[in-house]
Amino acid sequence: FDADEFRRLGHAMVDFIAEYQQSLGTGSLPVRSQASPGYLAPRLPGAAPEQPEGLPAILEDVQRHILPGMTHWQSPSFFAWFPANTSPPSLVADMLCSALGVIGFSWVSSPAATELEAIVLDWLGQLLRLPPSFLSPQGGTGVIQSTASEATLVALLSAKARAMEGRPEEDALKLCAYCSDQAHSSVRKACMVAGITRLRALPTSPEHLHALQPEAIEAAVQADLAEGLLPCFACATIGTTNSCAVDPLPAIGQLALRHSLWLHVDAAYAGTFGLLPELSSHFEGLELADSFDTNPHKGLLTNFDCSTMWFREGRARWARQALSLTPEYLRHHANDLDYKDLQVPLGRKFRALKLWFVMRMYGAEGLRAYLRNRLECQRVFEELLAADSRFLVAEGTAPRFGLVCFRLAGATRQQSEVVLEAVNASGTAFLVGTLMDGQHTIRMAIGSATVLPRHIREAWAAIQAAADEVLGPVAT
Ligand code: PLP
Repeated sequence: FDADEFRRLGHAMVDFIAEYQQSLGTGSLPVRSQASPGYLAPRLPGAAPEQPEGLPAILEDVQRHILPGMTHWQSPSFFAWFPANTSPPSLVADMLCSALGVIGFSWVSSPAATELEAIVLDWLGQLLRLPPSFLSPQGGTGVIQSTASEATLVALLSAKARAMEGRPEEDALKLCAYCSDQAHSSVRKACMVAGITRLRALPTSPEHLHALQPEAIEAAVQADLAEGLLPCFACATIGTTNSCAVDPLPAIGQLALRHSLWLHVDAAYAGTFGLLPELSSHFEGLELADSFDTNPHKGLLTNFDCSTMWFREGRARWARQALSLTPEYLRHHANDLDYKDLQVPLGRKFRALKLWFVMRMYGAEGLRAYLRNRLECQRVFEELLAADSRFLVAEGTAPRFGLVCFRLAGATRQQSEVVLEAVNASGTAFLVGTLMDGQHTIRMAIGSATVLPRHIREAWAAIQAAADEVLGPVAT
């Protein structure tokens, strides 16, 4: 390791990144890559170089060949899927994480990596105003997973371990899980991996804003019990992927308690809005959940990967029951502190560092201001939408957490898709569509770290221009 060489490379890379960040939002790069499939191979050599190359030559290729193939997630005009924010504190912390280069699977593999993780999860849990039973002083356990999908899988495996205790192995085939038809596909994938074939994805309706109704779970559980099956797990969502629907936790929690279902709350995107007291009603009933997960790598300025999961008091033991393995080479005097037993892989990065840097360098106030800016941008977008009679907020949805689902009034699915594609092809903004109740719906997911009302107006102008083409100008 040549420290001087590293300084030189590091400074050049920081300059490159700073210039890239400054170029975002200036219109010089289309937000969605305009590349066609297979664009890259003809531009690059077919084999790795025999002789070493220098950083300037590589950065030149990044500029010429890689950036045109990038979709710019950090652009203030990125409104697709959900955001995946990064920030200077997170970036520099990630650099330190890479430099320390530890694989913190166990306490002894790097004590600070394990201990800082427990501390920052208590910090974040307090900021999110999680019920005290999720925090370590009251027996709760926090762990950073790579993704919300992994958190759901870990929760499901924990539920399975709890439900199967003392039962014959063949009963595993009788296990049933419940979620809504709006739950993320990762719930189904978790069931596939866990060998649970009976996942009841219960229908939701526009009248209830696509929230999972407890009566629907109750009926499904009763039907399964009548068949001699074993209900064991329910996944409720705060902020569904399609429309940010919120499942009613107080009622679902009571039901889960009655039927001994493990209740996992997937708040992958919206969970970080728990920082805002004015949105606390969405999180009521969380004390009834067994586990909860949210992604600071989506909405809290911490670059991928960082999915924070908490177990309520006493629940982490079921995850350990499902996932603990300690061969001789991993044995040490403090194995009970190991995070390897609360996740599927063995290796893990020191992800707590970036969350620690972010919380310290923004402060709770800074983080709240960042979330509120997104809500303000949402309000601006809603106003623009309401002023143009060709558009409407999609029925069965409520704008929240920075997401507005909208439709073109009276348009066919094809017309709606043409408008969306025209906006994305313009490079001004990038949004994605979805299907809700069989109707094409465009999602405006406002989440960039640098988004301002002016970016919302620019995106809106592009949407209106595309609608002018397809539907004709708005009547005045
Ligand atoms: N759950 C919800 C509600 C989501 O919206 C998403 C992704 O957008 C996920 C889970 C999956 O997240 P991850 O990529 O962290 O697995």
